[in-house]
Amino acid sequence: MRVWAVANQKGGVGKTTTAVALAGLLADQGKRVLAVDLDPHGSMTSYFGHDPDRLTSSVYNLFQHQGRVPEGLAAALLLGTSHENIRLLPSSTSLATLERQSAAQGGYGLVISRALAQLRAQFDFVLIDSPPLLGVSMINALAACEQLVIPVQTEFLAMKGLERMVHTLNMVNRSRQQALPYTIVPTLFDRRTQASLSTLRTLRKDYADQLWQAYIPIDTKLRDASLAGVVPSRLESNARGVLAYRALLRYLLVHVTPKPKEAVRQPA
Ligand code: ADP
Ligand code: MG
Repeated sequence: MRVWAVANQKGGVGKTTTAVALAGLLADQGKRVLAVDLDPHGSMTSYFGHDPDRLTSSVYNLFQHQGRVPEGLAAALLLGTSHENIRLLPSSTSLATLERQSAAQGGYGLVISRALAQLRAQFDFVLIDSPPLLGVSMINALAACEQLVIPVQTEFLAMKGLERMVHTLNMVNRSRQQALPYTIVPTLFDRRTQASLSTLRTLRKDYADQLWQAYIPIDTKLRDASLAGVVPSRLESNARGVLAYRALLRYLLVHVTPKPKEAVRQPA
């Protein structure tokens, strides 16, 4: 089972869209995919047609057990989606109360990592969506994944969010056995704007090694897919945005090597 997380300490940059699009493309290939929503706003949960304000069980239940997930609980929380190969571990608004606490308290930092360890036989891929702020959820996402995807909106002010994210990553890396590899993905690219072009130039200059060389263009089909509650590839498999995400997936599959087994964090 491979676990990828999508994160950036800035909202509206395409995190949820990226997580869902990649999940959809993997699922289209017949992979068994688990989509994990760690954002208290529950955008990914809403995307798949569930109401994060009304769910009685969610990822929050995993945290209530102080990181020691009772046998079978993780599996009991999985919901169906509009794609037969994608299951959803939903978020709920109660997750927001956790964000005020320290990840170090009560073993909160590895809750998701432990829960996923119990689901290893059921899924080929896990895509984690995360909130735009540094807190318990973000720490859990970073601790649980083997690869991080950082969408960066190609507009002015984008670099600040990226700098903050990389800073957080460096902090988290100190407590990991090996540095978490990450890929920066330029999103919402509009070739007609100076902002898009100049942000892309800056990324290519400052983050050459971590940058995916192409970009995700602005494509209204991606928004239409979220309104329809289907993964983008199911709405229109040859839309520009879908083609770009397909190229990104190919890149990630080739360039991201799974962690060596001995380095995988074992549940305590
Ligand atoms: P985040 O999760 O970072 O807050 P979202 O993925 O929710 O960002 O995207 C924010 C908004 O922009 C959503 O309405 C989404 O449908 C839209 N969006 C995301 N990526 C694109 C894109 N490449 N082209 C057009 N709209 C997009
Ligand atoms: Mg989001």
